Amino acid sequence: MPVSDTVARDDTDAEGDRLPINELFASLQGEGKLAGVPSTFVRTSGCNLRCWFCDSFHTSWEPTHAWLSLDEIVAEVESLSPEHVVVTGGEPLVHDETDALLSALDDDYHLTVETNGTLETDAPVDLASISPKLASSTPTPDNAPDDVDPGVWTERHENARVDLGALASLVEDAAEFQLKFVVTGRDDLDEIESLVDDVRGVADREIRDSDVLLMPEGQTREQLARTRTEVADLAASFGYRYTPRLHVDLWNDAPET
Ligand code: SF4
Repeated sequence: MPVSDTVARDDTDAEGDRLPINELFASLQGEGKLAGVPSTFVRTSGCNLRCWFCDSFHTSWEPTHAWLSLDEIVAEVESLSPEHVVVTGGEPLVHDETDALLSALDDDYHLTVETNGTLETDAPVDLASISPKLASSTPTPDNAPDDVDPGVWTERHENARVDLGALASLVEDAAEFQLKFVVTGRDDLDEIESLVDDVRGVADREIRDSDVLLMPEGQTREQLARTRTEVADLAASFGYRYTPRLHVDLWNDAPET
């Protein structure tokens, strides 16, 4: 699991609010409705869940980061060319300062927030990319990443992974939204259908089937090769949208992609 050079920086001694930053780089959005769009990624470190398949291990199971001030982050975003900014993690909304960062960037950028859907935000968001975590994401001693003992996280993750109030708030408040599910196989679809029905029941906004995205689980080309066709077939069969993981297809699991 490679780590970005970003974490090798010194923590800032600048004044003001700071965020733990794992990566900050320009690339192409790899997933979802905006796949292929040039984007600057601000990846915060820290998460309130522990999916066994987490594709940003160094923001969740083993958080690594440099502390940067909001002014430094904004200046670095401004030094890069994309007009789209993706604030991601980890779970970016665990940090109160993320709202201030989004507000600081709002006038000049299209803002996507990638979130697991368990926390709300009052900040301006152009696209809420909400990835609710299914029962198949829960870590156990059998599926946890190498050298990791999930310990308390099996129960903690299972208890925290779905918050209908937060999901409704995120769906209602962003200019656009997508519900993006990491799919491990056919067994996930019953839970997806049930959860989408539940969110439709509490959110005061239409959720079309085309707002529901199925994304194959897999952090490497080899892993994706085993899941993508089945997940694409499931999307076609259930009437949901399929999303690729372009960055994995293009750059495998390299950092800063
Ligand atoms: S919610 Fe996202 S960042 Fe957190 S552990 Fe799961 S996949 Fe990783």
